[in-house]
Amino acid sequence: MSRFLSNRYSNIEPYTPGEQPKVYNLIKLNTNESPFPPSPKVIEALNKAETEKLNLYSDPDTKDVIDAIASTLNVKSENIIMGNGSDEILAFTFQAFCDSENQPCFADITYGFYKVFCELYGLSPEIIPLREDLSIAPEDYYNKGKSIFIANPNAPTGLALSLSQIEDIINHNKNSIILVDEAYVDFGAESAISLINKYDNLIVSRTFSKSRNLAGARLGFAVANAEIIADLAKMKFSFNPYNINRLSIIAGKEAILDTEYFEKCVSVIIKNREYTVNELKKRGFTTIDSKTNFIFTKLSSISGADYYKALREKNILVRHFGNERIKDYVRITIGSLEQMQALIDATDEILKGV
Ligand SMILES: *Cc1c(COP(=O)(O)O)cnc(C)c1O
Repeated sequence: MSRFLSNRYSNIEPYTPGEQPKVYNLIKLNTNESPFPPSPKVIEALNKAETEKLNLYSDPDTKDVIDAIASTLNVKSENIIMGNGSDEILAFTFQAFCDSENQPCFADITYGFYKVFCELYGLSPEIIPLREDLSIAPEDYYNKGKSIFIANPNAPTGLALSLSQIEDIINHNKNSIILVDEAYVDFGAESAISLINKYDNLIVSRTFSKSRNLAGARLGFAVANAEIIADLAKMKFSFNPYNINRLSIIAGKEAILDTEYFEKCVSVIIKNREYTVNELKKRGFTTIDSKTNFIFTKLSSISGADYYKALREKNILVRHFGNERIKDYVRITIGSLEQMQALIDATDEILKGV
């Protein structure tokens, strides 16, 4: 830290991203990326002619990608705003709607960035513990009088609330912002997007990083009522009007329009997830019911930390969290079938030694 950093930020503990190793012989199952390349239509569209236009600023209204999302998800363009990753959507939401009178609340075990944004913006969140089985109890979120952040499905557990449970929470908080973070919704959960015209306090955030194979393009978006979108746009245009670069606007448009490729990739991931859960079960693992592209799993005969380390030695990278409530588990991203077979083989070798 230099001696010039504002006191405001001296105690911030930044988000720790999963490791992005430089070596390529690793099987990378630690940050929930897709194992598949972007749609061929994306690759075709990112051509020389478009690259040559990088001397020009991008469209601050990101119209092309917003219109494509609107037509695909059956919402109006005025109900969408793009973020540089859905992390930026989260940042705008905390910034726009939380302050000392409107503090945020979220689960004790959930996406780690929520806590970081609270520190960044000087907020004091209420932390709501998950149930013993790591599920969210909707009634714990009734009448909070606070801005509510729920990852659905949740990370890193993989568990999802039903649409009626989400609506139940909204119905008990008509005067507070509710952000439903749907980063993983395409892998088997129900989206709350259909509710945005019914409730003026709901924000659904989505990302292209997981189910659209574009983590490196940094694209996310929010769907909400037009007035909320205008508030989020106020944040964006006060910070970085050109938050989405030219090539990512094109990539996002092509990716969202290629429904066929998207569905194919998602269905392979779901199939590989069922395969992995099944194989691990044969070996005694307990895996939480996942509606995502990762699983959260544990085995009584090996600690989460030891299993993580043993896999790392076999060049397989997964994620382990030190938090007391979840330290027995590892989080494993679902990759290609070959990657998952390699994981199972490595697991067999590791278990021979315990
Ligand atoms: C991955 C993830 C995000 C952020 O995704 P971006 O890459 O910033 O779009 C947001 N929320 C959850 C729960 C995630 O897992």
